[in-house]
Amino acid sequence: MTQRISHWIDGRETPGTSGRTAPVYNPATGQRSADVELASGSEVDVAVAKAVVAARQWRHASLSQRAGVLFAFRQLLHERTDELAAIVTAEHGKVLSDSAGEIARGLENVEFSAGVPQLLKGGFSEQVSTGVDVYSIRQPLGVVAGITPFNFPVMVPLWMCANAIACGNAFILKPSEKDPSASLFLAQMWKDAGLPDGVFTVVQGDKEAVDALLTHADVAAVSFVGSTPIARYIYETGTAQGKRVQALGGAKNHALVLPDADVEMAADAVVSAAYGSAGERCMALSVAVAVGDVADRLVDALAARLPKLTIGDGTHPDTDIGPLITAEHRDKVAGYIGAGAQQGATLVVDGRQADVPSGGFFLGTTLMDHVTPEMTVYSDEIFGPVLCVVRAETYEQGLALINDNPYANGTAIFTRDGGAARQFQFEVEVGMVGINVPVPVPVAYYSFGGWKASLFGDSHMYGAEGMNFYTRGKVVTSRWPDPATSAVDLGFPRTR
Ligand code: NAD
Repeated sequence: MTQRISHWIDGRETPGTSGRTAPVYNPATGQRSADVELASGSEVDVAVAKAVVAARQWRHASLSQRAGVLFAFRQLLHERTDELAAIVTAEHGKVLSDSAGEIARGLENVEFSAGVPQLLKGGFSEQVSTGVDVYSIRQPLGVVAGITPFNFPVMVPLWMCANAIACGNAFILKPSEKDPSASLFLAQMWKDAGLPDGVFTVVQGDKEAVDALLTHADVAAVSFVGSTPIARYIYETGTAQGKRVQALGGAKNHALVLPDADVEMAADAVVSAAYGSAGERCMALSVAVAVGDVADRLVDALAARLPKLTIGDGTHPDTDIGPLITAEHRDKVAGYIGAGAQQGATLVVDGRQADVPSGGFFLGTTLMDHVTPEMTVYSDEIFGPVLCVVRAETYEQGLALINDNPYANGTAIFTRDGGAARQFQFEVEVGMVGINVPVPVPVAYYSFGGWKASLFGDSHMYGAEGMNFYTRGKVVTSRWPDPATSAVDLGFPRTR
């Protein structure tokens, strides 16, 4: 019988009752490895009801008790990284070192959140009026939900749940149905770390579960990471229900390579960021904008690197790039390559012709030159191992191309000119910028998020913005009884 992947409600694995499931594959073999339960609205109601009870109790946990759980969770995550990485690779396909890398970056958020006693400090002003003090505090929202994409089944949930739980909320995770097992491993670790039952919940599912969370009166806030059309839908639906929503969407990240760049170093960086994790990263560089006479040198340097990359099963130590997530997605990416060639791009390296293992959802690396903005390979997020080179005559042309793009998640400039880099950082309309750094994912004590169609809402994820997102501010104005200052005063209170 095929293995069932179930929910995690009130501190234990909970089999589904909806009768609906979705297949889960090992993308390296193409074999169906399990079926994941898909929650109905009434199963979501049960999960939320348990979380409501847990949230009421968890907000009473002292800051040092919460920090203690986070420290224990951090230790477990550190000790069990290899096991968790194997689970990620088995369902996502990325190479083991990449799976371990996403765990390490997620772990940073746990470490940051363990500083909650310091992070939730409010302000205090003494004697704002005679005998009156004012202070500010931040309190948890209650039950909050996170809806996450397939491409980071550990890191993205940790962007959300570490902050949310540290702030005193109960957190409900709705992971991607394509690689759901990591969520249960995280749930068990939270329990082993001492987190009370019901504070971390997993509801497996698809649109039905998401809609139930979005419309549930007891869910106060929703964090989402995924594609732009769904991010927009989550934001519009959730905010219409009066919820706080942060919804991070898709991306089309450009590398701007200036003529003075060290071409070999830029090519190493762009290849790493374009093809790492088979291009299935929201911070992948999918467009290289070659400025002026650097173009031919850059294309040659990029093309020279591709034959050296090994495509295969992510569990093999010499594999550089694993498979794509599903057969449908692989075929969709291959379709874009064909369309790019038809629309006039030069196929320098055609991944469809690559010698890849049979059985799994593999696709070779593709490099396209002379791409122009009208082509679908440029306008759409492909989310695969495809790099487009667009040629620009000047820095200004390259910058305008980036700023005209509807997505604005990440970007990177490659140059040896500090002044040009400073100008780019000042002028570019993108949320996360790298200067000779290809994948500028902010560390946990900054916040992550793009601009424009890459983010709906006004709050970036994790870091200080995450702590604010998962708490409400309250300001207390206080006077201790003092007969000397007591009098009836019907005017609007003024400071005196
Ligand atoms: P997706 O939008 O298809 O799915 C994301 C989540 O939404 C999943 O949990 C899924 O079950 C749910 N979902 C899917 N369709 C839905 C619907 N119609 N109604 C309600 N919920 C729905 O994204 P994906 O394919 O899992 O992930 C890849 C996408 O995520 C890419 O576009 C990538 O750029 C983006 N992404 C963005 C960031 C970021 O930080 N901006 C990070 C990682 C991934």
